[in-house]
Amino acid sequence: MDPSPSMSSDARQADRLVAEVLAAGALERSAGEWLAARLDDPRVREPLLEAAHQARVAGKGRRVSVSRNIFIPLTNLCRDRCAYCTFARQPDDPAAHTYTLDEVGEAVSAALGRGCTEALFCLGDKPEIAYRAHREWLAEQGLRSTVELLLAACALAFEQGIFPHTNAGILRSEEMQALRASNASLGLMLESTSTRLREKGGAHYYCPDKDPAVRIRMHEEAGVLRIPFTSGLLLGIGESDADRIDTLLTIRSLADRYGHIQEVIVQPFHPKADTPMRGVEPLRTEQVAGWVALARLALGPEANVQAPPNLAPDALELLLRSGLNDWGGVSPLTLDFINPEAPWPELAELQRRSEASGDRLVERLPVYPEYLATEGFLAPAVREACLARVDASGYLPPRPTGPGCTDEEAA
Ligand code: SF4
Repeated sequence: MDPSPSMSSDARQADRLVAEVLAAGALERSAGEWLAARLDDPRVREPLLEAAHQARVAGKGRRVSVSRNIFIPLTNLCRDRCAYCTFARQPDDPAAHTYTLDEVGEAVSAALGRGCTEALFCLGDKPEIAYRAHREWLAEQGLRSTVELLLAACALAFEQGIFPHTNAGILRSEEMQALRASNASLGLMLESTSTRLREKGGAHYYCPDKDPAVRIRMHEEAGVLRIPFTSGLLLGIGESDADRIDTLLTIRSLADRYGHIQEVIVQPFHPKADTPMRGVEPLRTEQVAGWVALARLALGPEANVQAPPNLAPDALELLLRSGLNDWGGVSPLTLDFINPEAPWPELAELQRRSEASGDRLVERLPVYPEYLATEGFLAPAVREACLARVDASGYLPPRPTGPGCTDEEAA
């Protein structure tokens, strides 16, 4: 069937727009919104993906990186109640758990035994404000706050020989500064700049820490401190296309101002059965690929753009030709506790499929080479320890049989 006149003209407009974006090196708001509104049309999506792939190869080459990690959910108590979350628990839930330092030490030992180089500390936001039981538990350990526990856990992990990366929700500037002594990087998904999500019925209604202004401020404070920082978008929680473009442009502005945004995650929301958002339709994989491409074009050829492989296991090749250059953290021993229904791919599988797409899988630490190469982004002891682990490229040297070698070979 012949394309309709409007579809043909959309295809021509898409070709023209992506050529302009490539020439200019950056996607602007109006072009982004126009392309976003037509992601379901393959005659618009395909040239977009092609342009994003071209930009990624120009800026990052054919390497695609991954971090071999352990996910340590230091506490799954949280004062917020995001309408899509199954990670957070109430203190009386049998699945509620806060790690002791002994448990952290055991987890890190197990991770080192499996060749992991990153300890991802991911935890709920300030649970001591909401829960007396947690305050009492902390006091029994001689601690006044969850951040004090986190500081001790990160210091212990770093001493044991693994590199912490922390995502603890909203942290104050002085807390980030203290964490810098043991962390290779910190993170906070911006998620969305939409303030509508905080209105009654929105995904972030009961979530003071999801106020976009609060999250942007933490990004700024991390920038002032020059902490390598991970941000990202969460797709499909009630935001509009315009909100997503605005979120990308906000992250780009933060990166331009401070130079500290080391990676941007493009993460699709996956509905969970026992949440208020269980009936919300998630984005289709082609749409996710379109947003990876828009992120690449908005953030530029040199940015590190990541999409989690466990959330699109059948479409790794599509994502690879959409402009990403990183698969994020993949664990040989722990679940993705945010999306426990989505198992990690084997590293060997990631390697095989990346290579089949013409890319080379390399392992990185939880800090990217460009932030290791420059003094001032890491605490001296952390930088020294990182530099001792990487080769001249800033990535880990290949393991005996490459990044996909078995865990036993890696250990
Ligand atoms: S802030 Fe994070 S842990 Fe807390 S409810 Fe929201 S998504 Fe869950």
